[in-house]
Amino acid sequence: MTSSARPLLNRRLAEFGTTVFAEMSALAVKTGAINLGQGFPDTDGPEEIREAAVRALRDGRGNQYPPGPGVPELRAAVTAHQERRYGLSYDPDTEVLVTAGATEAIAASLLALVEPGDEVIALEPYYDSYAACVAMAGGTRVPVTLRPHEGTFRLDLDELRDAVTDRTRLLLLNTPHNPTGTVLTRAELAAIAELAVERDLLVVTDEVYEHLVFDAAEHIPLASFPGMRERTVTISSAGKTFSFTGWKVGWITAPPALVTAVRSAKQYLTYVSAGPFQYAVAEALALPDSHFAGFRADMEARRDVLAAGLAEAGFGVYRPAGTYFVTTDIRPLGESDGFAFCRDLPERAGVVAIPNAVFYDHREAGAPFVRFAFCKRTAVLEEAVRRLKTLGG
Ligand SMILES: *Cc1c(COP(=O)(O)O)cnc(C)c1O
Repeated sequence: MTSSARPLLNRRLAEFGTTVFAEMSALAVKTGAINLGQGFPDTDGPEEIREAAVRALRDGRGNQYPPGPGVPELRAAVTAHQERRYGLSYDPDTEVLVTAGATEAIAASLLALVEPGDEVIALEPYYDSYAACVAMAGGTRVPVTLRPHEGTFRLDLDELRDAVTDRTRLLLLNTPHNPTGTVLTRAELAAIAELAVERDLLVVTDEVYEHLVFDAAEHIPLASFPGMRERTVTISSAGKTFSFTGWKVGWITAPPALVTAVRSAKQYLTYVSAGPFQYAVAEALALPDSHFAGFRADMEARRDVLAAGLAEAGFGVYRPAGTYFVTTDIRPLGESDGFAFCRDLPERAGVVAIPNAVFYDHREAGAPFVRFAFCKRTAVLEEAVRRLKTLGG
């Protein structure tokens, strides 16, 4: 310890002590509860992709520093994927950057593009790293709150418009949206695009759940709207799409000037990462459409098990149109404080969940909401539901 009264953690990060995930996961271990808190699958992704990683390791591909922008095979696979799925064409040499997961892509984008004092608008509730990365970049976060409306959380476009000031530099979007499961519609995205063009804003869009959209929902990249390609950094990752969250292979697609800027920050964060896994992810991205359709149907079925079970257990359920998560309202159970509820839940019912309030600046707006992950085996979800049904009685 230093003898001075000055705290060790600097002022920019002081409010971001430890994450609630660490606290809740520790509770899960201590109580033996089922952990539906953190969003990682409890089964690995495709065997052939695991084998592709083993092969790369054995063949000595990627065991030494890979190229700074990522291995050419992966950059080519990313551009082929954007073209095949969305009709978006990017140059693999100048318009792709491979990162240490989406997490580093977010950090590097904000560190590169935000000047101290710039305002960054993010949809609230937001993924927890956004606020910390805006703070590290010296920016000011400006949350625009998604509000519950007829069973989903919706963006108020007027509120978004009103949030833009002369100091706004960047919109930080996320669709499909964690934790609410909202998928922005074509009309909403078109309005956001118009606003970004009109106010000349940069956009960083986190689309890590691009392959996890359910029912009739459709994921449309914001970069595909008029005037957007040139101002948008699109972020995705292999973690959620292929159920290899430990590999930490992510990427951005953006025009050359934006890629160059983001790479300037990225090269001093990790420089490079995950060499052999990059080759495996290149193969994963080339899997046939039937693979992605099967994955999506499988996750949709799990969503149905958890959403129906939570409703039967007495929760208010916001049926997600995408992602790994169901957001619930605990007020029908006679509760109102998500933090207190989640701290007690492992003892009370043997299940761990996350209070959505941690994803809000306006904590009171998130107080009654609690998030459960359904990227788990069906038997695990069924057991969790069985336990949660004891809450009412
Ligand atoms: C999981 C997640 C990330 C992080 O992705 P990694 O590739 O594991 O770094 C980023 N954004 C959102 C919304 C996520 O849910």
